[in-house]
Amino acid sequence: MPLKTPEEYINSLKKLNLVVYMFGKRVENVVENPIIKPSMNAVAMTYKLAQQPEYEDLMTAKSHLTGHKVNRFTHIHQSTGDLVKKSKMGRLLGSQTGCCFQRCVGMDALNALSMVTYDMDKKHNTQYNKRFLTYLEYVQENDLVCDGAMTDPKGDRSLAPHQQEDPDMFLRVVEEKKDGIIVRGAKAHQTGAVNSHEIIVMPTMTMREADKDYALSFALPSDTKGITYIMGRQSCDTRKLEEGKMDQGNLMFGGHEALVIFEDVFVPWDRIFMYKEYDFSGQLVEQFASYHRQSYACKVGVGDVLIGATQTIAEYNGAEKASHVKDKIIEMNHLNETLFCGCIACASEGHKEPSGTFYVNALLANVHKQNITRFPYQIARIAQDIAGGLMVTLPSEQDFKSELTGKWVQKYLKGKKDVSTENRVRILRLIENLTLGTAAVGYLTESMHGAGSPQAQRIMISRQVNIKEKQKVAKKLCGIDEK
Ligand code: SF4
Ligand code: FE
Repeated sequence: MPLKTPEEYINSLKKLNLVVYMFGKRVENVVENPIIKPSMNAVAMTYKLAQQPEYEDLMTAKSHLTGHKVNRFTHIHQSTGDLVKKSKMGRLLGSQTGCCFQRCVGMDALNALSMVTYDMDKKHNTQYNKRFLTYLEYVQENDLVCDGAMTDPKGDRSLAPHQQEDPDMFLRVVEEKKDGIIVRGAKAHQTGAVNSHEIIVMPTMTMREADKDYALSFALPSDTKGITYIMGRQSCDTRKLEEGKMDQGNLMFGGHEALVIFEDVFVPWDRIFMYKEYDFSGQLVEQFASYHRQSYACKVGVGDVLIGATQTIAEYNGAEKASHVKDKIIEMNHLNETLFCGCIACASEGHKEPSGTFYVNALLANVHKQNITRFPYQIARIAQDIAGGLMVTLPSEQDFKSELTGKWVQKYLKGKKDVSTENRVRILRLIENLTLGTAAVGYLTESMHGAGSPQAQRIMISRQVNIKEKQKVAKKLCGIDEK
């Protein structure tokens, strides 16, 4: 039975021997670390909801390889219906966790590789697709979390990989052996890296012939010798080390990113899905990115939480009937549902690729992600407007509970009569968490830069739009004949 329970997932992480550093020290017990644990809880939700009958249709799918029921995060999309369910699954999980639940990158890497390995074999007579499908079956049957690792540090942006002063600024092959290759380099901003069983590496951009040593894709167990994880900081992260939990805002869930170092790591041939086929590096980047831009359906779900929190604070403050407040809530919903339209549209307008995998409409996926770089900021602005300045001037939970100051905090921070001061503080802390704290990494900055920064989508939009056709019709309608 391929589906793991959340407990089985957490137990499987305990068995990994990851080399993780945070605040300059090795993290001895990754699973129990209070800063990492909320992010693991968020991934565990992808297992938990898959067990619940009401979410079975969204969270699980029938494997096209084995016919077994698998978690949708390990599934290869077999129809536009599958793609639509993927978008809805992202919103669902965002709305249940209020943060980044991390598992989409692996799903998007698997789907992109299912197409690229097939197309590569057709052109180069290679055997990558068979290899990949064997790997996919292993991932599906063991219900694994894969970290899709694309972003290289990149060094001097004006130079190609082989021109960099330090050749390791892009991950590369440094030695070829009989049984595999040795790789060196790093992948930055890796979402959910230390909650993953596997890490799937892909090139970060289109490579040319001179950079063929950098045109690599492979998968490794996350605790492979030579891989080191350095945890990224998040705003307000050390609040998770405090005794009380209230100031965290979101008591259960969070996300994380890490810098992943590959220091002369061995990769066996059967785990390599691209080796120097630089002519397919661009396709892999583009197809992974388009899938991942669709995945930003997650932010619609997080937006649901923020809208719910904003309505709640309006009510706690006694301001919910003010016409401008009502209108601002409508604006938040309008923006959020517009985002939902984009991730549904790019899915339902998807199509079948030669490999059999269904691929999103790339133009609409890029438009969706471009909207994601803007609307969550506008939604967050309104949330902060309605929440008021107290959100950032609130005393700490300790002051709240102190014998000396508690009575004043309780008295002067009270809103409406029938609402406890504590509840008012809790909802304000959640809005703070979503717009300024640890979850703001996922809701805002990741909306900006995740799956590629805004300009990357604009380039894709310009490539996908048929501008000549638009001109042709415009000219025809007003009688321009340039023949
Ligand atoms: Fe998934 Fe969204 Fe997190 Fe990216 S930001 S991994 S799409 S939840
Ligand atoms: Fe992301």
